[in-house]
Amino acid sequence: MTADLPRCDIAIVGGGLAGGLAALALAAKRPDLDVRLVEPGSVGGNHIWSFFDSDIARGDRWLVAPLVRHHWGQYDVAFPSHRRTMRMGYKSITGEALAEAVAAALPEGCIVADKAKHVAPDHILLARGGRLSARHVIDARGAGKFPTLDCGWQKFVGQALTIRGGHGVAHPVVMDARVEQLDGYRFVYLLPFDDETIFVEDTYYSDSADLDVAAVRERIAGYVAARQWDVAAVTREETGVLPVVIAGDFERMWPASDRTARIGVRAGAFHATTGYSLPDAVRTVAALPTLVDRADLPAILRARAAATWRRQRFYRMLGAMLFRAADPDARYRVFQRFYRLSPGLIARFYAGGSTRGDKLRILSGKPPVPFGRALAALRRFDWK
Ligand SMILES: Cc1cc2nc3c(=O)[nH]c(=O)nc-3n(C[C@H](O)[C@H](O)[C@H](O)COP(=O)(O)OP(=O)(O)OC[C@H]3O[C@@H](n4cnc5c(N)ncnc54)[C@H](O)[C@@H]3O)c2cc1C
Repeated sequence: MTADLPRCDIAIVGGGLAGGLAALALAAKRPDLDVRLVEPGSVGGNHIWSFFDSDIARGDRWLVAPLVRHHWGQYDVAFPSHRRTMRMGYKSITGEALAEAVAAALPEGCIVADKAKHVAPDHILLARGGRLSARHVIDARGAGKFPTLDCGWQKFVGQALTIRGGHGVAHPVVMDARVEQLDGYRFVYLLPFDDETIFVEDTYYSDSADLDVAAVRERIAGYVAARQWDVAAVTREETGVLPVVIAGDFERMWPASDRTARIGVRAGAFHATTGYSLPDAVRTVAALPTLVDRADLPAILRARAAATWRRQRFYRMLGAMLFRAADPDARYRVFQRFYRLSPGLIARFYAGGSTRGDKLRILSGKPPVPFGRALAALRRFDWK
């Protein structure tokens, strides 16, 4: 039988985005604490996480700055009848960068390479045996199954490609929707890492969570061929199926009776329309070093997550419009119209901080979906 581990101050379960950032924040600001990170796979995993400069408050940027592997000063969007260049910084961090930073920040032996089979507020039981007790356990195990959500899906396959002779793309294309519309709203997302390396992601806002990876790989190959890129190698591939939330009961997702602290997607803290969690993870994790001394840390984090969930109501309503009012092959029009709005409004939308004026502006004017169906979707919408 494996022996119990020595008791620590903070045990973080899950070394993905939120858990890895939490370990970094605590190591930087609270070196007095004994922090353990429990992760069965590689910290950071196979991920490229991207964000707009406006997603992160200036005071929190120290946390992600060392992890940035690619950055650009502007990005493009392209729709059938609208193209635009947005002057906004865009950055990518990688799972490898997070893993390196965490390994350098935590003292030796503080990463526990095991799976938690039981997670409680003050201890974890490890799959290989043994118990890790802590003043606070922080659950950062990511998505789970989301059984309580009514949602559509944003699903994708992304590949990093080496292009012989170069690809000629200067900055990211966050949405290239001039492609055949299939399985809902389809667009291609491009990140040019260097002159010859480009990340190409084929994405769908779909009614179904099924992702046919082989079929999407073929469509990426078709896109690449149409651009006459000569592929020398595929150096990386990632897939994702993220919920685009229409309705969900926070109380069921994180019942008040569950007194273990949570962060990241586990806490329901992600953008209802994009499925992205980095902006919120940074906000929460940056506050952790001052919160961890509080005995009521789980209640504080739950209250924060509940408030974030309430603030997402407007984005859930947009999800209802997208999935219930728009025909799948006309969904692109919603985004095409959105990208005609002001840069400030667009930035606040992605950061999850739309103002009342932004919301009115997004909803005003001729709707890009049939009016009667928009009204019907609103009537059925759960305003909780
Ligand atoms: C391919 C992909 C790309 C994405 N790109 C972006 C992006 O560009 N920007 C953005 O903001 N969002 C992005 N997202 C959405 C979201 O932000 C990510 O899913 C993000 O990684 C979620 O962070 P998290 O820490 O909550 O969960 P995860 O990063 O999924 O981390 C959970 C961790 O918990 C570990 N774990 C699970 N069970 C156990 C257990 N029992 N014991 C111990 N450890 C356990 C897992 O191994 C994993 O490492 C992307 C998602 C995917 C899938």
